[in-house]
Amino acid sequence: MPHRVLTAEFIHESNTFKKGVTDLHAFEIDVLLEGEVALKTLCNSNTGISGFADVAEEAGWDMRHVISAYAEPGSKVSRQAFDHVAGKICAAALAQKDNLDGILLALHGAMVTEFCEDGEGELLRRLRDVVGPDIPVAMTLDLHANVTPQMAELADIIVSYKTYPHIDLRERGVQAGQLLEAAMAGETRPKTLRAHRPMLDDPNGGRTDTGPLVPLYADALAHESEPGIHAVSLNAGFSDADIFHMGPTVLVTYDTGTDGAEGRAREIAERLADGIWHARDSLANDFLSVDDACRHALSYRSDKGPLVIADYADNPGSGAYGDATNLLAAMLKAGLENATFAPMIDPEAAAALCSGQVGDEVRLALGGKNDPDFGGGPIEVTGEIRHISDGRLTGDGPMLGGLPFSFGPTAVLRVRGIDILVVTERGQMLDLQQFKAFGIEPERKSTVALKSMQHFRAAFEPIAGEVIVCDSGALSTPQMSKRPYVNVRRPIWPLDADVQP
Ligand SMILES: [Zn+2]
Repeated sequence: MPHRVLTAEFIHESNTFKKGVTDLHAFEIDVLLEGEVALKTLCNSNTGISGFADVAEEAGWDMRHVISAYAEPGSKVSRQAFDHVAGKICAAALAQKDNLDGILLALHGAMVTEFCEDGEGELLRRLRDVVGPDIPVAMTLDLHANVTPQMAELADIIVSYKTYPHIDLRERGVQAGQLLEAAMAGETRPKTLRAHRPMLDDPNGGRTDTGPLVPLYADALAHESEPGIHAVSLNAGFSDADIFHMGPTVLVTYDTGTDGAEGRAREIAERLADGIWHARDSLANDFLSVDDACRHALSYRSDKGPLVIADYADNPGSGAYGDATNLLAAMLKAGLENATFAPMIDPEAAAALCSGQVGDEVRLALGGKNDPDFGGGPIEVTGEIRHISDGRLTGDGPMLGGLPFSFGPTAVLRVRGIDILVVTERGQMLDLQQFKAFGIEPERKSTVALKSMQHFRAAFEPIAGEVIVCDSGALSTPQMSKRPYVNVRRPIWPLDADVQP
């Protein structure tokens, strides 16, 4: 008899400092697909569901995929959106509960809703109410998960991504699926424990390419081959979600049926949590001011490829507005030539530009409309429309390869020497097609300024001569004290002095 497995994806990283709510429409714009349609659209790419489907095929599961729901990181999830997606998952579980062997979920682990701090924990609680405590539940989480005690308690198996940029979603999906298969077959009885220290964030945001945590990720992987240790996950946390249990965590999924595994799991988790704590003062990123970044661009020689400037603080991928203007204003002031800047998320400006024609000269107020205190207010620019598009593209890089993506109505406005990508829908830059689809060849530019913290590196480091990172003062600024934390447990590093682990 094949194992019958219910699968679903419900992914949101909620920035509680951002105004408004993430409603169902925001999911519809990105991904809100059910059953077979979801599988057809999202499989064979860098997605968790691809990994689940790989295991289903190999192990001969009867896999029942309910829904894939993803919205670009943003404000808290509305009750209606949460109830809609969680409702579909729970209704399917209820309808099939007498014939179900396991549940496999792809979640983020930093979802905050307008009615509760722990979206994933709430989903798991509702699911357990339906299916009871015994059926094995496995899930994948983002490396930037905030993991609450409730989540670790209610899920048996948790596997987080181990790469940032996140290029191992499918691989982790396979790992979670295989662990679930072993549990359903009665070979293991998994459980997950959690360790943490009083930290708001890993100051390197979970960088796995460089910095002090690189050896810890290697350790985590090595421990997974020990007897009875199934998965060791280092979660950097998400410091834009102001909830009680925010911050880095270590999770170890172990087999309760293996002698000594629980003690060993606790030892591993605490030692790795100590490692994160001790690395708290070593920064891998050198955050330049926007003026210093532009000064560097002026003297940069682009023979080896463009200078890439990452606007870390205005990363739409962490829920920042994506319309901060400080970096663009500095680029214009510096008079940079053969440069590009992307994206400027400004639906009003995008609509105005898309109602014109290529070649038109226009004057408009660009960006800075959401919260000028974070990253600068609107700037008046005059430029030429170079391209108009519906914003759709298919990615071809390590993260977005084969996946559909849309910025919505999009235009390229050339202001002096800078091609500005003005878009309607939110999205961070993580694929070359996000330029090329709109007629911008990033390889040929001298300066490529883009809004992203780290994900851009997967596609842009190979073409860059040099990468620098700046802090434009936007909502996701690395200067934590600029954000008004209220809910996080105190005392906590780095907000409070003399915090003890
Ligand atoms: Zn992440």
